[in-house]
Amino acid sequence: MWVTLFAVWVAASAPRKVANMPRGWSWPPNAAMKRVGGECLARLDAAGIEFRKAKAIPKISTAIVLPGLAIGELMLTPLGGGGPYPMDCELAAGIAELGPSLRALGIRAIRFRTLHKYRTVRKKGRKTRILSRHAIGLAVDVFGLELDDGRIVEVEHAWASADVMPAFAAVFATSPRFRTPLTPANDPHDHGDHIHLEAHLRIQ
Ligand SMILES: [Zn+2]
Repeated sequence: MWVTLFAVWVAASAPRKVANMPRGWSWPPNAAMKRVGGECLARLDAAGIEFRKAKAIPKISTAIVLPGLAIGELMLTPLGGGGPYPMDCELAAGIAELGPSLRALGIRAIRFRTLHKYRTVRKKGRKTRILSRHAIGLAVDVFGLELDDGRIVEVEHAWASADVMPAFAAVFATSPRFRTPLTPANDPHDHGDHIHLEAHLRIQ
């Protein structure tokens, strides 16, 4: 009986788990998250990416903003809403690491809509109670790409016809820094017009 009571006590006193959050994630950020955040900022510094730390933003572990929305030679172009577009360092550092591969595809700008947004996951057009990775600054919704020749290709119209689109998604799909992107190919219902990119936050 005591064992049972002890088990009940442990379950009741354990931190409440938040669905879909990275393993080891908590709010406010714990010591491990702060350490990982510091290492990420050092990676951005070493890559020569210009950034500044953002004021504390709910649920973003290591919040930064990118002046001019530049990640090296790659631009992030907002398609709506005002800045300054705070994001977790891991998203910026992840894109920075893939920058040369994206530039090699002739991509000079990523055209995005939602970056950080405090909202839940939608599945088949319906809201769920799962907190979105957009809410913790790790995800960005890409609606189009601007190429070196000046062309703008949109996910909605060019996914099937422009080879650069699947190639863009593949760069992220093969990176250990990112989860598998959601695209018109693997999630046509909810991602028919954009690609959802989501950086990992590895806390352990
Ligand atoms: Zn998204």
